[in-house]
Amino acid sequence: MQISGKVLIKGEWLLGAGAGFNASNPTTLQKSSETFYNADSAQAQAAATAAAQAFDLYSQYSDLQKANFLRTIATQLEKIRPEIVLRATWETALGEMRINGELGRTIGQLNMFAQLLDKGDWKRPVIDLAQADRQPLPKPDIRLTQVPLGPVVVFAASNFPLAFSVAGGDTASALAAGCPVIVKTHSAHPGTSELVASAILAAIEQCDLPRGVFAMLHGGGRTVGATLVTAAQVKAVGFTGSISGGRALYDLAVGRREPIPFYGELGSTNPVFLLPQSLAQKAEQIAASFIGALTMGVGQFCTSPGILIAVKGNALERLLASLAEKTPTLAAATMLTTGICNSYQQACEQRAAMPSLKQIACGESADSEASQAQVQLFSVDASDYLKQAELEEEVFGPATLVVCCEDSAQLLAVANSLGGHLTAALFADEEDQNLAGQLLPILQQRIGRILFDGYGTGVELSSAMSHGGPYPSSTAGQSTSVGTRAIERFTRPLCYQNTPDALLPAELKNANPNSIMRLVNNRWTTTAIN
Ligand code: NAP
Repeated sequence: MQISGKVLIKGEWLLGAGAGFNASNPTTLQKSSETFYNADSAQAQAAATAAAQAFDLYSQYSDLQKANFLRTIATQLEKIRPEIVLRATWETALGEMRINGELGRTIGQLNMFAQLLDKGDWKRPVIDLAQADRQPLPKPDIRLTQVPLGPVVVFAASNFPLAFSVAGGDTASALAAGCPVIVKTHSAHPGTSELVASAILAAIEQCDLPRGVFAMLHGGGRTVGATLVTAAQVKAVGFTGSISGGRALYDLAVGRREPIPFYGELGSTNPVFLLPQSLAQKAEQIAASFIGALTMGVGQFCTSPGILIAVKGNALERLLASLAEKTPTLAAATMLTTGICNSYQQACEQRAAMPSLKQIACGESADSEASQAQVQLFSVDASDYLKQAELEEEVFGPATLVVCCEDSAQLLAVANSLGGHLTAALFADEEDQNLAGQLLPILQQRIGRILFDGYGTGVELSSAMSHGGPYPSSTAGQSTSVGTRAIERFTRPLCYQNTPDALLPAELKNANPNSIMRLVNNRWTTTAIN
C-alpha cells in the first residue's frame, strides 16, 4: 500500500494544512521518502464536528453492530500484517517479534471488546421495580443503564505504536462504548499510523458506518492536540505519554467551559520490594530476572521496574555483586526516538552527578548516532533517598535505582513516601509474610496493581486487569486502560424513571429480549419481568 502522508477526516484522505515532516528510522536516522503533513486547527475542528454528527447515529447502533465493526477492523489489520510489521519496525527500532506480538495484542483487544458486546451485559443494568403500595409514598420504577459519552480524542503513545495507538486499547474501548474516535498520531510512527487508519477506514466502508466515526490527524507542535481537547464536541480524552505533556492536556480538558474526563496514563517508577528472606534465598536469581525485565523494550515500558528497595546486609551485597557482574555485557540498544534517547541520556548524567548516588554498573557503551541507550544502575542510601523526592521520578529507559535501607522500618518509611504508581512488586517468602502484611496497606493507597515474585512489565489482557493508578501514574486512578472495564471510561450512567416499556432500551425492557444478567430488586437474574 502506498503511504500518502495525508490525514483522514470524515472518510477522506486530505493533505494536512500544517507543516510537513518526515518519519525517521531511529537506528540509521534515515528519513522516509514520504512527507507527512500535520493538520491545522481548522481540520482538527472539522474532524470534531464530523465526529459529533456521526455520534448521533453511531450511539444508537446495537452492541452486535459495534461488535461486527470491531471484528472487521481486526480482520482488516490482519490482512495488512506484513506491511504494518515492516513499517513499524523501521519507524520504531522495535524488533519484528515485538511488533508482531503487539499487533496480535491489538487485534486481541478489538476481539475482546467485540466479545464483551456479544454478551450484552457490560452495561450492568439495574432495575428497581415500582411499589405502588409503599408507605408513606409509592416507589417509582427506576432503571439504570450506561450510555456513550460522545466523541473521544485518543493521543497515540510513542512506546506502543500499535497496542496504545491508532487502533489500540483506547480506540477499541471507545468505539465499543459507542463513541466516535479522533486519533492524534505520534510523530514517531506516522506511516504505521496511516496503515492502521486505512484498515479502520476499510472496516467503516465494509460496515457502512457514518464516515465521521473515525479520524486520524498528524499534529506535532501542540496546536492540533490542544484544539481537539478544547473542541466543544469532544467529550473525553485518552492519553499515554509524559507527565508534563499529559498534565498540560489534562489542565486544558478540565479548564474548558464544559470540563471533560481526561484518562491520562503518565509516568510510573514501579517500585520492587525485595523482602529479607526472599532476597537471602535467591539474590542471584532475582538479579538475573530483574535485568531481563529492565531491558525489555529498552526499558521503554510504563511498567518498567525503576526502583528496587531492600534492607542492607549480606543478601543485598550478593544482589549488588550479581548486578555488577552481569550488567557490563548488556548491549546498548536503540530507543524509540532521538528525543527520547537524549532525555534518557540527560537523566542518567544528572543521576551520575548526584553525590548521594553510587553507580553500581553500566552496560556496554552506547552509540549516540544510533539513538542507543546504555543500561545504567545506581544505588542510594534510603536516608538520602527520603530527602530527594525527585529520585522517585521516572527515568524512561533502562536505568534503575537500588534503595538500600537500614532495616525493615526504613523500608516501610520508603514505601510510605511513595506517590502513585501503576505497579509494585514484592519478592516475599513465607517468613516475609509479616513484613509483606505491613507493606500491603501502605501500597494499597498508592498502587494500581500489586504483584508477587515477578515484575509488572507484562500487562495481561484480562477482565480482572487494572492498568492505572493514583496520580501521577494516571490522571484517573479510578479507571483502567487495559481489560474490559476500560469501556467504562467512555460511558456515563443514565437512569430511566417510570418510562413506558416500549421506549426503554433492550437491556432494560421487561422481556429481557437478549436474556442478559441484570440486577432486579437487588438480585442478579437473567429472567424476564412479568
Ligand atoms: P509526550 O511528550 O508526552 O507526547 C505525547 C503526546 O502528547 C504527543 O502527541 C504530543 O504532541 C502531545 N503533547 C505533549 N505535550 C503537549 C502539550 N504541552 N500540549 C499539547 N500536546 C502535547 O510523550 P512522548 O513523546 O511519548 O515521550 C516523551 C517522554 O514521555 C519520554 O521521554 C518519557 O519520559 C515519557 N513517556 C512515558 C511513557 C509511560 O508510559 N510512562 C510513555 C511514553 C513516554 P506533539 O506531537 O505535538 O509533541
